[in-house]
Amino acid sequence: MIIEDKEFGEVIIRKSPLSKGVRFSVSTSGRLTMSVPTYTSTFLAKRFLNSNRDIIREKLPLKDPKEQRARDYQKKVLMKKAREYLPYRLEYYAKLYGYSYDKFRLTHANTRWGSCSSNRTISLNIGLMKVPEVLRDYVILHELAHLNHMDHSKAFWAEVGSHDKNYKNHEKKLKMFNPGV
Ligand SMILES: [Zn+2]
Repeated sequence: MIIEDKEFGEVIIRKSPLSKGVRFSVSTSGRLTMSVPTYTSTFLAKRFLNSNRDIIREKLPLKDPKEQRARDYQKKVLMKKAREYLPYRLEYYAKLYGYSYDKFRLTHANTRWGSCSSNRTISLNIGLMKVPEVLRDYVILHELAHLNHMDHSKAFWAEVGSHDKNYKNHEKKLKMFNPGV
């Protein structure tokens, strides 16, 4: 649920049966997020918000509402680009090198460029649309190699290296970018 606040903009209210009290945090878009117990009414949530205004202002790195919306827009654009590009690029390399995966997912986590799970699902971050194509390809090849090696063993890196001989350099360059949108 979202409530509109004059000072903080859109505030995200997350109701969870596991929350025992009210917890404030910042969403990836820089919005104030309140985790509250399931039975909390909107009225009560607003009252909590009001009584914690000073501490929120002081402690939480919230973005102003204009920046929050700009980030939403950027994410939407990246998502659209990613949807039209990444699944096809992944398929291209999978076919080229004889890999098969079961599922493909787009993510927008702040921390990882991609992942490959034991149920053969490959996830790629939409933030890849912000990095040069060679680095994007490197991440794809890295995740594909995980289909054969679920670790970062020597054998894994040898396989990555057989598809991308500059992989070490690409891995290093990737660190200059942030996967978060
Ligand atoms: Zn890896």
